[in-house]
Amino acid sequence: MSSSSPIVAIATAPGRGGIGVIRVSGKELDALIQTLFGRTLQARHAHFLPFKDAQGEAIDEGIALFFKGPHSYTGEDVLELQGHGGPAVLRRLLDRCLEAGKDQGLRLAEPGEFTQRAFLNDRLDLAQAEAVADLIDASSEAAARSAVASLSGVFSNNVNALADRIIHLRMLVEATLDFPEEEIDFLEKYQAAATLQGIQDELERILQHSRQGAILREGLHVVLAGQPNVGKSSLLNALAGEDVAIVTDIAGTTRDRVMQLIHIDGIPLHIVDTAGLRETEDTVERIGIARTWDEIAKANVIVHLLDARNPQDELDSAITTRLPSHVPVLRVYNKIDLLTAEQQAALPAQESGATVLPISARKDIGLDTLRRTLLDIAGWNPGSESPWLARERHLRALERAEYHLGLAAEHATHSDQVLDLFAEELRLAHLDLCSITGEFSSDDLLGEIFSSFCIGK
Ligand code: GDP
Ligand code: ZN
Repeated sequence: MSSSSPIVAIATAPGRGGIGVIRVSGKELDALIQTLFGRTLQARHAHFLPFKDAQGEAIDEGIALFFKGPHSYTGEDVLELQGHGGPAVLRRLLDRCLEAGKDQGLRLAEPGEFTQRAFLNDRLDLAQAEAVADLIDASSEAAARSAVASLSGVFSNNVNALADRIIHLRMLVEATLDFPEEEIDFLEKYQAAATLQGIQDELERILQHSRQGAILREGLHVVLAGQPNVGKSSLLNALAGEDVAIVTDIAGTTRDRVMQLIHIDGIPLHIVDTAGLRETEDTVERIGIARTWDEIAKANVIVHLLDARNPQDELDSAITTRLPSHVPVLRVYNKIDLLTAEQQAALPAQESGATVLPISARKDIGLDTLRRTLLDIAGWNPGSESPWLARERHLRALERAEYHLGLAAEHATHSDQVLDLFAEELRLAHLDLCSITGEFSSDDLLGEIFSSFCIGK
């Protein structure tokens, strides 16, 4: 399948809608347009036209828009046909385009292929292209806002500015390497250590900000642990509130629905209910439970729910023992509506190092504090700026760059100043940053990224 042949796809979501859009992209679409309409189309003008089949019978009528490359989404010629949004109409229109463009090799687009061409033609960098998919997939306003920030280049600009600072330092080092007699003075002469420190600080800022953006995209993982009847399901429903809880069957079995997605302030939270964790002989259920433990290992916070009327017992201790020790725990006493004022006052604020919160899931007491504390303990701390959206891939690249800059700093403080090693670590850090925007990227990586797009984007 040629990567340069013209492509076509239905760009709007499947199903019925007021309008449906067919999108075509190719190096040169004049011939196709001539076949379809028997005329030329003025670029960037809306033309109201009949869409006809090869026999001249009307399929639909609508708006045709032509964008002459490179001034288009993909950087190639782009033709958009806006017709009525019914599956049958769009199917016929799509078939008509394929037939009309046969001689030019017009074929159906692969998922994400329009955006991939935009990337290959330098209309977008890789982080921006990823933001296109993330904007479409955004499940909350906060995530959508951040995706737009990334799409408009805020994230890429920060990464590029940092890369430029590294390039500058690299140029100085590499120029010095050509004159070995100057190597000894290099670090002092150019204040290289201080410059490097400034770069490390900036990387740290970008990384922190990106971590917040990744939370918006990937969500926080929260585990609800506690004995039967302490109110886990009630709490989950109370937290979900108006926001209709989406129940995902992560086990792939129908019997234990243990993971739910809710939103707090637009932040997605994947909540795992440990009700699915009981001991069982059933193989299918055991597989489900193993996957639940995988989820729990990724948890950002564990909520240990207790009945405020009963003190912690062995079962609670057993629960605590099985949970991963590196994850912060929030201890929540539920049903405080059943306590007297004195009993409420007697609840501790801290217990074995964990923050204690009194709530009533039924009477909606303490839930706002719980929401805030949950986001806080789980690591959501966006500061004043709203973050750009980031993916795990970006975090890994930033962390690798951080690692190489750290090694560079070690070489810089080394007494015998191994300048070529210093230079090499800077080079590696620079490469890691470039992988974010896709300046150097493998076909495998591109394939992986764009294949997760929807068709027509
Ligand atoms: P789970 O087994 O931990 O999921 O507990 P459920 O959510 O099913 O709740 C068990 C029982 O406790 C139900 O009868 C709930 O109505 C009740 N319950 C839950 N939260 C509260 C609360 O805050 N106050 C009171 N009084 N009852 C509650
Ligand atoms: Zn339950």
